[in-house]
Amino acid sequence: MITNLVRQNILNLQAYSSARSEFKGKANIFLDANENPYDSLYNRYPDPLQKEVKQEITKLKGIKAEQLFLGNGSDEAIDLLIRIFCEPAQDSIMVLPPTYGMYEVSANIANVGIQEVALTSDYQLDVNAILNQVIPTTKMLFICSPNNPTGNSMNPASIKKILDSFDGIAIIDEAYIDFAEQESCSKWIETYENLVILQTFSKAWGLAGIRLGMAFSNPQIIQLLNKVKPPYNVNVLSQEVALKALKQADKTQQAIQNIKTERQKLVKILAQFSFIQKIYPSDANFILIKIDQANLLYQYLVEQGIIIRNRSKLEHCQGCLRISIGTPQQNKTLVQTLKKYL
Ligand SMILES: *Cc1c(COP(=O)(O)O)cnc(C)c1O
Repeated sequence: MITNLVRQNILNLQAYSSARSEFKGKANIFLDANENPYDSLYNRYPDPLQKEVKQEITKLKGIKAEQLFLGNGSDEAIDLLIRIFCEPAQDSIMVLPPTYGMYEVSANIANVGIQEVALTSDYQLDVNAILNQVIPTTKMLFICSPNNPTGNSMNPASIKKILDSFDGIAIIDEAYIDFAEQESCSKWIETYENLVILQTFSKAWGLAGIRLGMAFSNPQIIQLLNKVKPPYNVNVLSQEVALKALKQADKTQQAIQNIKTERQKLVKILAQFSFIQKIYPSDANFILIKIDQANLLYQYLVEQGIIIRNRSKLEHCQGCLRISIGTPQQNKTLVQTLKKYL
């Protein structure tokens, strides 16, 4: 079933076999990879399959190692998935704007088509429109929940309805799931073999700099991802830092709590500003606000040395600005600066 969706050249592909992946067992002397033999802590290539890191993740996420792929950010997983399933100049992905821009960029780089089906005016899934526009060459569907830049989670019943009908590869991007009230859809990978869940160390874990993203799916799709990925896609330093963070997962939980508390505080304060027309409900570590002259406020903040994200050009986002939740001090400075704008 999945095999029918995979590009023929990927099925035929003879994957690169690295020195370290051919050898299994114990040895004392490694003269197989043309590494520099003098120990500098980093003279050896990393584990291509990141087994130690995966073991810690499986404990936390309640999935098996063979259901887990690790990439150089979840952006790498997005790119690889498109290249595994979409034939250039023939197939297309479906995206649901306003949403994360990388799906479209990765598709464009791969010369893969893009079908857009807008979210409803309250930023929910337009289930019928989505299913009606699926054609045989619609190979993948990207659902972002909680969605960037709107901040809301998608209705789980709507997601389920789509999964029950869509025969291509369905991707649920859960980059912000740790901030959400709603639980992850990851358990559904047991039910839907065409489902991929994306999560990342870049947001809640506070490790955007190490570039580490996760994909959860059935072992067949995970094997395809491992087949096409660059052999050493997650470097030694990143694996070390991730392991350390995973062993102190309670710290991340605390950070998530702090950010959610700060979000609540900031929403309450911003609600008192008369020039802010709307603050959208957020399940993420940012909020989206709507104002009359978004460009003017954006420019004012830039001049004050505060950079937020101007999203006012996106579909259904007229006048919208996206603000990441900062430290208490950063948020306070933001509020004080906004007060002077009045
Ligand atoms: C930030 C973000 C990501 C994270 O990408 P990484 O490559 O893992 O840093 C993925 N999806 C969405 C929607 C995001 O906003």
